[in-house]
Amino acid sequence: MQPLADMTILIAEDERPVRMLLRVVLEAAGARVIEGDDGAQALRLFDLHPEVDLVCTDMNMPNLDGLGLIGALELRRRSVPIVVCSALDLTDAEAGVAGRVDGLVQKPVHPGDLVRTVRAAAERRSAAAS
Ligand SMILES: [Mg+2]
Repeated sequence: MQPLADMTILIAEDERPVRMLLRVVLEAAGARVIEGDDGAQALRLFDLHPEVDLVCTDMNMPNLDGLGLIGALELRRRSVPIVVCSALDLTDAEAGVAGRVDGLVQKPVHPGDLVRTVRAAAERRSAAAS
């Protein structure tokens, strides 16, 4: 079973071990993964890769943080689903991102939680679009 088959997911995460974990988990679920090591690089990659179906972003990153990335994505392609993956208390994260993102994953990342949240975010957006 490949719950994320045919999805291209862009990761924005500044901590390399976490990026590697996210990639391994998402690829094991069938996704194609593109990774940026901060929000600014992720935004450049988003512009280069129109095939991106969903963005999974950290909040605390250098150069461009999660809130900055979310704002930039909203200006570019409002319909792209966004999942926040953060060590922040989710109530704090929600304060800045409520209504703007499609899922929240608490760090440390639990693989099943990540895949379920990404799947649900993609399904919610496609249901809203149809
Ligand atoms: Mg970080």
